[in-house]
Amino acid sequence: MTKQEKIHRTLTYLDELFPDAHCELHYQKDYELVIAVMLSAQTTDESVNAVTAHLFTRFPSLESLANAEISALESEIRTLGLFRNKARNIRGISSKLLDDFAGVVPQNKEALMSLPGVGNKTANVIRAELFHIPEFAVDTHVARVSKRLGFVNPHDDVEAIEKKMRRLLPESRYIKTHHQLIHFGRYVCKARQPQCLNCKICAFCLEKNKNC
Ligand code: SF4
Repeated sequence: MTKQEKIHRTLTYLDELFPDAHCELHYQKDYELVIAVMLSAQTTDESVNAVTAHLFTRFPSLESLANAEISALESEIRTLGLFRNKARNIRGISSKLLDDFAGVVPQNKEALMSLPGVGNKTANVIRAELFHIPEFAVDTHVARVSKRLGFVNPHDDVEAIEKKMRRLLPESRYIKTHHQLIHFGRYVCKARQPQCLNCKICAFCLEKNKNC
């Protein structure tokens, strides 16, 4: 089976499993998404949603976030890993958006990456979600599943995975497939105990285990 055939079967299966996969971070305003994605580094969307509901009520504008005491921001997000850095990033993002971008989240990737705590993956997620720009963001689930299915090499880094997956996928599928692979990695192809027994693409999976 060629890689393209494997991709086709994978996309069909993902459509069957997760037809409506979408960003699960809660946000009302564009800048809230920027902050939520930054906060989601090394933690779950669920944990982020649990803190942002109160955070964005207590500090309901960019100005209030930019002027907040670091200790107050820390106490709002204390349950998240790296909360001290992330609290500084919240204030930094808010100040920079106000000072350099008139309070508007920019579409440009370099501009986004100039915000504290916003790297390539975060910028890709923001561009895809807010502006529907075809970006393919690679997180831990996307990386693991892409490797298990043999779409990329086992030792490829995030950058190489993004490049290879962009070549394999139709551009029109970048955003949807990103969300679907996250769901697949979260609920089926889990890091520790993948549900191989019921997986319909185990035929060409390199790591079908064990019970497939
Ligand atoms: Fe993941 Fe198992 Fe399916 Fe392979 S067979 S993609 S390891 S769930």
